[in-house]
Amino acid sequence: MTVVRTRFAPSPTGYLHLGGARTALYSWAFARHFGGTFILRIEDTDLERSTPEAVQAILDGMKWLGLDHDEGPFYQMQRMDRYREVVAQMLEAGTAYLCYSSPEEVEAMRERMRAAGEKPRYDGTWRPEAGKTLPPVPADRKPVVRFKNPLDGEVSWDDVVKGTITIGNKELDDLVIARPDGTPTYNFCVAVDDWDMQITHVLRGDDHVNNTPRQINILRAIGAPLPLYGHLPMILGADGEKLSKRHGAVSVMDYPAQGYLPEAMLNYLARLGWSHGDDEVFSMEQFCEWFNLDHLTRSAAQFNNEKLAWLNNHYIKQADNERLARLARPVMEAEGAKFEGGPDLPAVLGLMKERVNTINELADAAMLFFRDPKPDPALMTQHLTDAVKPALAQFAERVATVEWTKEAIAAMIKEVLAAHGLKMPQIAMPLRLVITGQLQTPAIDAVLQIVGRDAVLARVNKYL
Ligand code: GLU
Repeated sequence: MTVVRTRFAPSPTGYLHLGGARTALYSWAFARHFGGTFILRIEDTDLERSTPEAVQAILDGMKWLGLDHDEGPFYQMQRMDRYREVVAQMLEAGTAYLCYSSPEEVEAMRERMRAAGEKPRYDGTWRPEAGKTLPPVPADRKPVVRFKNPLDGEVSWDDVVKGTITIGNKELDDLVIARPDGTPTYNFCVAVDDWDMQITHVLRGDDHVNNTPRQINILRAIGAPLPLYGHLPMILGADGEKLSKRHGAVSVMDYPAQGYLPEAMLNYLARLGWSHGDDEVFSMEQFCEWFNLDHLTRSAAQFNNEKLAWLNNHYIKQADNERLARLARPVMEAEGAKFEGGPDLPAVLGLMKERVNTINELADAAMLFFRDPKPDPALMTQHLTDAVKPALAQFAERVATVEWTKEAIAAMIKEVLAAHGLKMPQIAMPLRLVITGQLQTPAIDAVLQIVGRDAVLARVNKYL
C-alpha cells in the first residue's frame, strides 16, 4: 500500500479563512485515516502580499483546531536554491528554455492573438525546436525561463472530487518558470515542492483547477510521480455568494473570540463538503476513521451559521465545566465580574450551559452570579408586596438551618409557601430580584444553592 503524504499549503497573505481550514482538515484527516504524513508548507513567495502576521495567523488557526502537522512548516522562500537547481536541470535537459522576448513583445503577440480570436499565449519565438534557428540574443536583456509545454495531446486527471478533467495542451502556455532575476514562479514551486515532499494526494480549493494541468506537465517533465488531485468546491455564504467579510466572521480565529469551541468548528467543517450517511455529530477520531475521500460533495457548500451554533451548543453541553470556566473567565473579567467570595464558577456554568450557543453567551448569562444585584425599584415594589414579606422572613429564618442541597431548599420553599397560602412565583420572583437583580434566572432552588447560604441571607435581609 502506498504511504499517504498530504499537505496544506496556504499562502500567508491574510488570515486563515474557513475554506482554507476545511482544506487543511481534509488533508489532515486523510493522512490520519491511513496513518500517513501531513505536511505544512507556507507558500510565501509573493513578497508583496505575504506577511509574518499572516504566517502566525495560519499557525494559530491550525493550533486552535488541533490540526497537527508531522513535517514542516516548510517555507518556500527558504527553498530558493532548490528551485534554481531544478530550473538549471530543466534548461540542461531541454524541458525549459531561455526566452529573450521583452514584456512589450509578449504583450504585442498576445494582442495579435486576441485580435485574431485566439487564446493569447506565448508564440514560441524562443522555443527551440529541431532545425529551427533562434533569433540573435539581444544585448543587455535578461531572459526569463519558460517551460517547454507539450504542443499536442492533452492533460487529463481523475479528480477525486470532480471526476475526470481533461485540458488540451494547446490551451496551455509555455509558462514562465523563472523571472529575469532568477526568482521562480508559483506553479513551478508548487510542482517542485510536491515532488520533493513526495506528496501523494493534493486536496485544495477548486480555484486551483486551472493550475493543475500546468503542474502536471511540469511534474512529468522533471520525472516526478503524479499525486492524485481533489479540488474542493468553494464555500458560499447563506445568500449563495462567495463567502466574504460581508457574511461576518470568515477568519477561523474570529470564532474562538466569539466563543466557539474547536470541536464544533471541526465537526461543522467536516460536514461542509462531505457526508457519511445521516451523521451530523461526530468526533474527529470518528471522522478520521471514516474519511477516505468517498462522499465528497461536488457542489459548492453553503455556510450555515445556525448549524454551527447548534453544534457549538451541543459541544458546550458536553464540555467539562472546568474547561468552560477557563474559557468564560476572561470574558467575564472583561465584563467586570467579581469572583471573590462568589459562587463556584464551574458549577454556575454547568447550570447555565444548556441553552447557550457560545461561550460568550454563557459568560453573559453567568454574570448574574458575579455582580452586585441591583434590582429595579419599580419591580421590587411590584413583587415584594406586604403579603409576601412575612413569607420571605420565614424563608430567611429557615435558610439559616436548612440542609444546603437543591432538594432540601426546594422542599423548604414549598413548606413556606403552604404556610402562607402563596404560590411559587409569589416568592420566586422577589427572591430572584433580591438575589440576582433580575427576573429571569434558572430554577430558583438551583440559583439559591449555587449563590450560597451566606450570600442569600445577606441579600434577603437587606430588603426585610
Ligand atoms: N497556496 C495556495 C493557496 O493558498 C494553495 C496551493 C495548493 O494547495 O496547491 O491557495
